[in-house]
Amino acid sequence: MGEIDPQFSTSSTGEGASYDLVVVGSGIIGLGAAYAAVRSGLSVCVIEQGTRPTGSSIRNFGHLCIGAQTGEARELAEAGRETWLRLSRDADFWLRESGTLIAARHNDELALIEAAAQTGGIEIFDTDDFAALAPVNRHVVVGGARIAGDLQANPRTAAEKIVAHLVSLGVTFISRTTATAVESGVVHTTRGSVRGGRVILAVNHDIDRLLPAIAEEARVQRCVLDMVRVQMPLSAPLDAPLLTGWSLLRYGRFESLAEVVPVRERLHAARPDLAAIDLNQMYTQLPDGSMIVGDTHHRDPSPLPFQAEDSQQALIDEALELFGVPSLRVIERWQGVYASGAGEFLDREVLPGVRAIAATTGIGMTCGFGLAQRAVAALFGADAPVSAAALAAAPNNFTHTELSKETTP
Ligand SMILES: Cc1cc2nc3c(=O)[nH]c(=O)nc-3n(C[C@H](O)[C@H](O)[C@H](O)COP(=O)(O)OP(=O)(O)OC[C@H]3O[C@@H](n4cnc5c(N)ncnc54)[C@H](O)[C@@H]3O)c2cc1C
Repeated sequence: MGEIDPQFSTSSTGEGASYDLVVVGSGIIGLGAAYAAVRSGLSVCVIEQGTRPTGSSIRNFGHLCIGAQTGEARELAEAGRETWLRLSRDADFWLRESGTLIAARHNDELALIEAAAQTGGIEIFDTDDFAALAPVNRHVVVGGARIAGDLQANPRTAAEKIVAHLVSLGVTFISRTTATAVESGVVHTTRGSVRGGRVILAVNHDIDRLLPAIAEEARVQRCVLDMVRVQMPLSAPLDAPLLTGWSLLRYGRFESLAEVVPVRERLHAARPDLAAIDLNQMYTQLPDGSMIVGDTHHRDPSPLPFQAEDSQQALIDEALELFGVPSLRVIERWQGVYASGAGEFLDREVLPGVRAIAATTGIGMTCGFGLAQRAVAALFGADAPVSAAALAAAPNNFTHTELSKETTP
């Protein structure tokens, strides 16, 4: 890890500082909580064990896949959409109103998409029209679709830009500091205790280290994913995230329909090797033209770090075939990790005034802002944010931050 980014180091945590909200974790969900709170006029401190965001929030596709969600996830995704748009403007990071493309390579995939399209927001295309929209090999697709309203962000830049914006709004960041325990109104860290009126824990899968009993109850484990970034000679830019039939097996809006059954049975029978790595064959193109290619899934409480070359080769082979290109160049490989649990979200008041939140499947970029906004509203009251003065006057609130001198790195 490089030098501490000055925008991501402790600014003012001296004796006497007090916070309405202490957030642990500076991934997209912790940042979303800090943003919701500071916009409500609350004072906020974010504690982060690293010197910059390096977790799931920078390792993903940047696909804000709103229209493929249903139920609670859809509500949270819709709630976060406006925040993404506003933040991209105010914090000045790359984001586009791209929609999402879906390449169908079999009639059962088209039938599934058509069934989902009955509730609106999905446009269906025949082979030629779809091949004009996406730089895929027209001989391998039978048609396709576009989900309206979805967004694409650059995950490599968004979180750091949001940190800088939050600093400009007055949020205090304490870096290189690990939260080790939490009580109502106080977070114990490797540099001393940080006190505040309310606490949000947004530590993703590391909730099993901080609050193991809560993690066990929510059946949280780690899902590790193989990812690669490639350069490939596409016939045209890919203007939106691109999903395939494999993706339809996992997104709520599609996988809840009866028409998914023949798709799953066919894909699993035809390609047990890809089913075994739990493939979600999808792509996003970054502003520099490189393509994020993914992904595999493996769940384990303590996954091993070794990435099988066969899995990565499968990702590459599938990309070559879908885009009809003879070769590509791998620029980077990495392992992503996210929390995987019993439901789609962990959102629980674990102690009075302390809320633990996480996306417990791979939709935290899409739903994380909505989840964070809801948690802040639950802690402070949606329409009546609690001011520092009110918290100071209330019983059981701690209004002083007592960090040891090492907090200023
Ligand atoms: C490969 C991959 C692809 C994905 N693709 C998508 C996608 O396209 N669309 C989508 O919606 N979602 C996607 N996801 C899921 C999404 O990235 C995550 O759900 C989301 O980023 C989680 O955000 P977070 O803030 O909870 O976690 P993180 O970004 O991991 O942040 C948690 C932070 O907490 C810090 N922390 C942990 N413990 C402590 C502690 N004790 N003290 C202090 N700090 C601590 C960590 O250092 C870290 O910075 C993907 C995930 C992966 C891995």
